[in-house]
This record gives sequence, C-alpha cells and structure tokens, in this order.
Amino acid sequence: MTYQMPEPFAWNHCPICGQLLIVAHDGQSEVPHCPPCRRFYYRNPVPAACAFLRRGSDELLFTRRAVDPAKGEWSLPGGFMEIGETPEETVLREIQEETGLEARNPKLLGIRSKPSPVSGSIMVVGFVIEDWEGEPRPDTDALELGFFSRSARPRLAFSVHRELLALYDARYP
Ligand SMILES: [Zn+2]
Repeated sequence: MTYQMPEPFAWNHCPICGQLLIVAHDGQSEVPHCPPCRRFYYRNPVPAACAFLRRGSDELLFTRRAVDPAKGEWSLPGGFMEIGETPEETVLREIQEETGLEARNPKLLGIRSKPSPVSGSIMVVGFVIEDWEGEPRPDTDALELGFFSRSARPRLAFSVHRELLALYDARYP
C-alpha cells in the first residue's frame, strides 16, 4: 500500500532519533512510524483561539498584522494554544500579549477548522469577551488595533475567522 505524504510538508525522518520513517499500520490506517522509538507520527489540526472582544453592543476589536502570514491585513486577536493551557487561558493570554488589555470570563462562541498552508490544518476556538479593562496598545505582532462597528469592519484575512464572525453576527444580531 502506498502512503500519500501529506501536504504542505511531510515527515521523512524521526524528529527524535533521526531514523528514516517507514509506513506501518497502527490498527486503523497507514501512518509514518519509527520502529526504534516505537512511535507513530500523526498529523492533526493545530488548535488556536481567537477573541471577539466587544465594546458596547456594536464594536469589535480587530488587529492589523505586522507579521506574515497576511502581513498588513486585519485579523482577530488570538493565537495558538500552548501545552498546558486551556483554550480560555490561550485567548486571555493572547489578548494580553497582543493588545495589553486585561480580559476575563471568555464565553464560547463556536469552533471552526480549515486547511492551513502553515500547519496543514488549524482548528480555531472563538470566544466572546465582554469583560475587559485597559487601553488597547499594539505589541510587535500588530501594526495597529481598532474597534470597528459592524458597518465599518475591514475584511478579515483568514477564512476561518470570517466563518466565526458570521457565527458571531448570528448570535449577536
Ligand atoms: Zn525514532
């Protein structure tokens, strides 16, 4: 059985011992495997969290990206989960890092996943934030921050954010 190496990148060698990976059956499917380490190498979506941070009943905080991918385009505050974090802790940490705001009580909006050229696939957990304080100030990842009313929003760079925004608009009409 031939194994189609996944895009956008493929593992050819074990990252632990450096041995060339073989393809082996894990009981369900064919998976890259390192016999000396007795380890299968799965590829799964990478979890991330993003924030719909509200000001009043109409405005949301967007951030214009200073780094690739999508440098110069608008995004929602957020980022990748770190090991040991809950999704709630991820979104609160990212808000603090990217905007300087102190936020609390994230409310789950929904979850969407999409293919990603960077990680293969990304799964984003969207949270609504109404409980926050401080003055937004961009960090090095952001060119600028802005609160936008529904009628004045810039286009979001990432389709997974646009899908979550549609969910947000349905939930908070
Ligand atoms: Zn190995």
